[in-house]
Amino acid sequence: MRLVLLGPPGAGKGTQAKEISKRMSIPHISTGDMFRQAIKEGTELGKQAEAYLKEGRLVPDTITIGLIQERLTMPDTHNGFLLDGFPRTKPQAEALDRWLDGQGANIDYVLNIEVPREQILIRLTGRRICKGCGATYHVQYNPPQNSGICDFCGEKLSQRPDDTETVVSHRLDVYVEQTSLLVKYYREKGILKEIDGSHDIPEVTQAIGMALGSDWR
Ligand code: ADP
Ligand code: ADP
Ligand code: ZN
Repeated sequence: MRLVLLGPPGAGKGTQAKEISKRMSIPHISTGDMFRQAIKEGTELGKQAEAYLKEGRLVPDTITIGLIQERLTMPDTHNGFLLDGFPRTKPQAEALDRWLDGQGANIDYVLNIEVPREQILIRLTGRRICKGCGATYHVQYNPPQNSGICDFCGEKLSQRPDDTETVVSHRLDVYVEQTSLLVKYYREKGILKEIDGSHDIPEVTQAIGMALGSDWR
C-alpha cells in the first residue's frame, strides 16, 4: 500500500507513521528526518537544508523532490511506503503523481490528521526527541519511563531547535499557506481519509486502521 500522511506540524504524523509502518511492513519515509540526518552528518544536502529547517521555512521544491525520488527508487519501497511530511506543496504533489504514474503506480490513500491549533502548540512545545535513535516523546502525553532518557537507546532526550514558540508559529503559517491546499487536491482525487487526531495515540492509530480497512484491535 502507498500512503501519504497529511496534517499540520505536531498533528502526530511521525508517531502514527512508526506504528502503521510496523503493522503494515512498509517503510516510513519522513523528509524531515532525512533532512535532520543530513544536517547531522554534514553532507551537501544538510548544508543546503540547514537554514530552512532552523527558520521553519520549506526547503525548495527541487531539492526536496530530488531527495524523495531517489528514496523511492530503493528496493524496500516496491511493496509500498508511507510518506510523512511529503508532499508539502502543490508542485511536490504533482511531481509525486507524475513520478508514480511513470512507474504505473499510484497513491492508495492520503490520511489527513486534523488537530486543533491550541492542542498542536501544547504537543510541539512538549515534544522531546532522541538524537540517538529518532524516537519521539511528549513530556506529558507520551513520556519515557525515566524522565529525559530514551527508552530504546538510553540517550538523553532533547528539544528540536525548531520547536520553539516563534518557529512553531511560523511553521503553522507555512502549513496554512502552502500545504493545507493539498487536502482539497487529494479530496478531489477521491483518496482522502479524514482522521480526527485529537484523541490519544492508540485511539488515533485505531481510527487509521479502520479508515484503511484493517482490523487493528
Ligand atoms: P513536523 O514533524 O513538525 O511536521 P518535519 O520534521 O516534517 O516537521 O519537517 C521539519 C522541517 O523540514 C520543515 O519545517 C521544513 O523546513 C523541512 N521539510 C520537511 N519536509 C519538507 C518538504 N516536503 N518540503 C520542504 N521542506 C520540508
Ligand atoms: P508530527 O510528526 O505530525 O509533527 P509528532 O508525531 O512528532 O507530530 O507528534 C508531536 C508531539 O505530540 C510529540 O511529542 C508526540 O509524542 C505527541 N503526540 C503525538 N500524537 C499524540 C496524541 N494523539 N495525543 C497526544 N500527544 C500526541
Ligand atoms: Zn533513542
